[in-house]
Amino acid sequence: MNDHSSLTIRGIGAAPGIAIGKAFPLELGHIPVPHYRLFGDQAVLDECKRFEEAIAEAESDLEAIKRSIKSEFKDHARLLEVQQMILRDPSIYDESLRHIKEERTNAQLAVIKSLRRAKELFNSLNNDEYAKSRIADVNAAGDRVIRILAGQNHTNLQDIHERSVIVAHDLSPADAIQLQAGSTLGIVTEIGGSFSHTSIVARSMGIPAVTGVEKALRLISSNDLIIVDGRTGIVIINPSEAELQFYANRQDEIETYLKQISKHSHLPAQTSDGHRVSAEANIEALEEIVAAKDNGAEGIGLYRTEFFFMNRMELPDEESLYRDYHDLAELMAPSPVTIRTLDLGAEKLTAWCPMLEEANPALGLRSIRLCLHYKEVFKTQLRAILRASAAAHNIRLMLPLISGMDEIYEARRIVRDLQAELSRKRIPFDKDMPFGAMIEVPSAVAMADLLAQEVDFFSIGTNDLIQYSIGIDRSNEHVAYLYKPLHPGVLRLIKQAVDAGHEAGIPVAVCGEMAGEPLYVPILLGLKIDSFSMNPVALPRVKNLIRRSSMKECCRFVNKVIRMRTAQEIEESVSKLVMRKFPEEFRVFDPNWTANATAKKSGS
Ligand code: PEP
Ligand code: MG
Repeated sequence: MNDHSSLTIRGIGAAPGIAIGKAFPLELGHIPVPHYRLFGDQAVLDECKRFEEAIAEAESDLEAIKRSIKSEFKDHARLLEVQQMILRDPSIYDESLRHIKEERTNAQLAVIKSLRRAKELFNSLNNDEYAKSRIADVNAAGDRVIRILAGQNHTNLQDIHERSVIVAHDLSPADAIQLQAGSTLGIVTEIGGSFSHTSIVARSMGIPAVTGVEKALRLISSNDLIIVDGRTGIVIINPSEAELQFYANRQDEIETYLKQISKHSHLPAQTSDGHRVSAEANIEALEEIVAAKDNGAEGIGLYRTEFFFMNRMELPDEESLYRDYHDLAELMAPSPVTIRTLDLGAEKLTAWCPMLEEANPALGLRSIRLCLHYKEVFKTQLRAILRASAAAHNIRLMLPLISGMDEIYEARRIVRDLQAELSRKRIPFDKDMPFGAMIEVPSAVAMADLLAQEVDFFSIGTNDLIQYSIGIDRSNEHVAYLYKPLHPGVLRLIKQAVDAGHEAGIPVAVCGEMAGEPLYVPILLGLKIDSFSMNPVALPRVKNLIRRSSMKECCRFVNKVIRMRTAQEIEESVSKLVMRKFPEEFRVFDPNWTANATAKKSGS
């Protein structure tokens, strides 16, 4: 029996998996800042010099961290460049010097003042996810300089070798990439959602993470033993023996189950009654190809090309884009590779792209709209894709956020012009490269029959389709309870898009998060989805369930649930079906089962 009581706190499950370990609280940003006035011109000059030296030291620290990042995460090193850029940004650098010179304040206070101003600017962008991650970067960069000025060491995250669970108020993406996958067992942060860059980095490194845990730093002390359940968002501080035993068993169960099913992940995605679909991977960077192949990807169903454009000081040129796409195509050949054109805007912005003052960025100039607005950027990318298509003739081109025919017509016209230009210059390209549209807004579903006549395939982006059909911001934690993939309205829209696609003889994929959720396999199969594209680590579980499903049974199931009236009714039916057909999958992963079982076992 334990003589202390455990404490369970909840946040948002941001990266799946279970971590059990000692807490390593990071007090980033909580440094006492002295406040004094400088007397005499020499004192001002000395303080300016001290500030400039601190900036230089912070820059060389960041450079050293960049060099130490393991090669497989090199792509994320660009995030550190953002911090370096912030240090030299006039709003921080020039402003701090101005405060020192004009107001004769000490350097720490000058930095605090300019940071505050920069953060106010980002805050004025409302609830924007991009602004939140930029504030995290500004905080991280500022924190580093202030610590240097205060003579304190910044905790270099890559120096934490003790195997521990990092607990922080916030962790910028630049912080997250310094974490060592081996020694960082888990991550708990006080703020942030599951769509933040930090969550994306944590997921890609396979580190369980829970974000949005209020007062985590106050409740968790150094060396506390904590359990992090990155799927349910549960964090247990100083767990009881029973809780510890329970989660340790769960960790073993998950590991054993994954090991066992991974043995079969290279078998084709074919149902028990012979219906063949395709199981493909979503990637953000070429480094993920290894994970995609290892987990049995039958192609790349979504390459989110915008990540190559983000966290850069300037627009990448055609040559570097061409090399990226060419390498991807060659490495995956003969399997297909779906390159989605730039899906920037809303929460995904870059330094080189003009920041627009939009009241509703999710409804603003994003994605295909942004590309058709900045045509030269679009053309550069398209030219690179077309040239790369000659490598292995396996590239498919996909346009995001299509809302109507005009966007398809205009994009097609641009592609045709570029093809003509390449032909004139005798530059090879794949003349038969498939041209597809993402179905992400209700208007695209409503006119899917017409769109289907103009494209070679559909790919349903359920993340956005859910956001735009139910009318909720997908990264807003306050309306997260409404984010229901099994909402009857969402299922009906998916069905309508699939039926329209098939009527016109084109295949229909799903590349939103729904495709990577094993619980939804029977529904998506029954809706007659041809291709499932997902986070590479989800592939073995989804493929396993596809192979064990009967298409006939899934179709019967969908005929029944499509007539149901509420998401809850459908969720219950899905749970029952999965529990009955795949009890071990349900037992190992279902979050409610975990929570209920824990409550029963620990009596909490
Ligand atoms: C989607 O919206 O479902 C999708 C796959 O695109 P993203 O998540 O990149 O917006
Ligand atoms: Mg989308």
